[in-house]
Amino acid sequence: MVVSELDPDWGDGTRCVHAGESAPSRGAPLTPGPVFAAPYHLGPEPAADSSPDPATGADFYGRAGNPTWRVLESAIGDLDGGECVLFPSGMAAISALLRDAAARGGLVIPSDGYYATRSFAAAELSSRGVSVREVATTGPWTEEVFRGAALVLLETPSNPGLEVCDIAELSASAHAAGAMVAVDNTTASPLGQRPLELGADIVVASDAKALTGHSDLVLGHISTRDAGLAQRLRDARTLSGAIAGPFESWLAHRSLSTLDLRLARQAENAAALATALLDHPSVRNLRWPGLASDPAHALARRQMRRFGGVLRFELADAAAFDRFVAASRLVVEATSFGGVHSTVDRRARWGDQVPPGFVRFSAGCEDPADLVADVLAALAA
Ligand code: PLP
Repeated sequence: MVVSELDPDWGDGTRCVHAGESAPSRGAPLTPGPVFAAPYHLGPEPAADSSPDPATGADFYGRAGNPTWRVLESAIGDLDGGECVLFPSGMAAISALLRDAAARGGLVIPSDGYYATRSFAAAELSSRGVSVREVATTGPWTEEVFRGAALVLLETPSNPGLEVCDIAELSASAHAAGAMVAVDNTTASPLGQRPLELGADIVVASDAKALTGHSDLVLGHISTRDAGLAQRLRDARTLSGAIAGPFESWLAHRSLSTLDLRLARQAENAAALATALLDHPSVRNLRWPGLASDPAHALARRQMRRFGGVLRFELADAAAFDRFVAASRLVVEATSFGGVHSTVDRRARWGDQVPPGFVRFSAGCEDPADLVADVLAALAA
């Protein structure tokens, strides 16, 4: 399948609508459906003196290649500005990346980022002798942190604290120490931040969040400009068998076309909520990188293209959170974030080191006035 090139001068909306599309051809569907295939028809066996490379040749088996993956990989890769390798979840992508790097040296991972990354590193890597250092998103990023590291994984904005670190500066320090830098870009999405343009080597993300945004699928990806790394990851995916389903891949591509619209509304809602809640008597420690008074705002403004729809704040305790959820008509309690529905998650229930009343609020695509009115009413109840 031939995929058209995107014009680098196009805006986000145009790029999202056209990312991954096929060159027009008479009679072909405007949007091709998913390809479901385990085996594909084989051609004649390659001559003995040629070097058959299934990755560059025709598809032969569904674990090694699928045209629907390639459409989505082309679309996401275009938005990230690199070569995308699709995985069945964010954790499948992160674990493939950390395993690859652990073969070459130590790892630096966020102490305050998504908890499963730390759990994976502890269960599968440090327990087998790999050096894993945990560093908070805001540092301290001393020289010692980078020593002996093969990979530094940043998460910015971090989940759930929404702390921000300087991708360009930390990439320069890591490169000077011989380490590669990966950025977990789940919270920002490729429209919110382009880590590869800021000097990072790798983007990794859960695509169950804003990128696809309808709370109906789990996928993940890695994007990089390092062709060797992309090929190693593809080979590892084929051998480990951790592959995405064609239907989810198709659904994700379909959802991606509205990313610009969804993110714009989510950010509008996050801004409206942040303004309404900042000085609310029941709310403490509200953070949203788009807020001019947020400690991370200056840095976020420098490196982010948009601030997204996720904010966090604290209510008095778990009971106050439960009362809020029970009283709201629009906000539901659910983990994950970035969907069209507004959701809240009390992160202490998952073991994050945050106060019991700490709320991660994912602003959806409801009308801003309805959402703010509902949240204020629920807080007053
Ligand atoms: N990275 C971040 C920042 C996340 O929030 C998540 C999931 O919530 C993941 C990675 C893992 O992604 P997945 O749930 O798709 O495996």
